[in-house]
Amino acid sequence: MNTTERLYYSDSHLVEFDARVVSVSRTTDGRAAVALDRTAFYPTGGGQPCDTGALGAARVVDCVEADGDAVLHVVEGEAPGVGAEVRGRVDWPRRLDHMQQHTGQHILSQAFVELYGAQTRSFRMTEDACEIDVDLTEPSDERVERAVRRANEIIWDDRTVRVHSVTPDEAARLPLRKDSAREGELRVIEIEGFDFSPCGGTHARSTGEVGCVVARHWERAKGLARVTFAAGGRAVADYRRANRTARAVAALFSVGRDEAAEAAARLQEENKQLQRRLRAAEETAARAEARELYEEALSSEGGDGQAVVVARAFEGRDAEGLRRLAFALASRPNAVALLGAVDGGAARLVFARSADARGDMNALMREACATLEGRGGGRPDLAQGGGRRTDRLAEALDAAAAAVRGENH
Ligand SMILES: [Zn+2]
Repeated sequence: MNTTERLYYSDSHLVEFDARVVSVSRTTDGRAAVALDRTAFYPTGGGQPCDTGALGAARVVDCVEADGDAVLHVVEGEAPGVGAEVRGRVDWPRRLDHMQQHTGQHILSQAFVELYGAQTRSFRMTEDACEIDVDLTEPSDERVERAVRRANEIIWDDRTVRVHSVTPDEAARLPLRKDSAREGELRVIEIEGFDFSPCGGTHARSTGEVGCVVARHWERAKGLARVTFAAGGRAVADYRRANRTARAVAALFSVGRDEAAEAAARLQEENKQLQRRLRAAEETAARAEARELYEEALSSEGGDGQAVVVARAFEGRDAEGLRRLAFALASRPNAVALLGAVDGGAARLVFARSADARGDMNALMREACATLEGRGGGRPDLAQGGGRRTDRLAEALDAAAAAVRGENH
């Protein structure tokens, strides 16, 4: 494999170039991989995704490092033949985006160092997000925002970005932000009066080209602060999305965009209060309903030490409502509540008894659930269950009621 001359090392703004095809191989999935004597295409590496573009009539969809310091251009369409002279064209909007994110990362990372002595341990760039893991003690919104403010100052200073090729000895004398693992000649990126950092990526000519940098959010990850940020065009696109979301939320409350969070918090608080009031009202209603059902049952049975059995099926009552009523009934003397409901296409059961009533609700529930072809159980004084045979709900309740009455006789 040959060594490919990297044109992007000396000119990151070069988008068109002529080159000769050195070899054409096949990737494992059968696509053509073209090696050139020189290239302006940046291959995936150093946390930065590759460039895309065109090679003659073919489309460059991927670009990777290969053995022997070669760059492979994975193409779709008709691949050029070995020895052919081809014109390469790098997709500029994508390259500019990568340069903005990448140079923005250098600046933001150095801002964390300058302000807090906090080193960046890793960097990742994907199609829609950039992350740095910063060794920042006591991370907070304020500390992150201060670093972002400093980074933007550097950007708006429009400082020159220089690329140096240095020997390891020369590198040792530079105030490098991080050490390089590479041997031999080293590529060092200087941001005038601010940062020296070894890097093989593509960078802006001056910091102004980065436009701006924003932090979307941060979180703790593996003892570090993981800061998600966006620079340049991405920051503007992110603003557009965030603004659209904020305005959509504000419209729901008929308030200004910046009042939306407060309006949402207010609504949530109101909702909590309503929930509390609703629960209180439901308790009251359950007690009243329980009294009525209990007295009705008492007039037809009970007395002489016999349990007052309330066996009843309801339509569309949820589990919580059923439980509430069962508890209210069980708080009355010598009562047994055998309640069922059809809810969401399934049969539900709650059996409860007061402390002074006899009967094993768990055993009754198991039997009833067998009838409903479902499952359930619980304690001697409280059991719950259900099943899919909604058509046998009345049958299951009747059987349970008969069993209780039999036991009480
Ligand atoms: Zn870099």
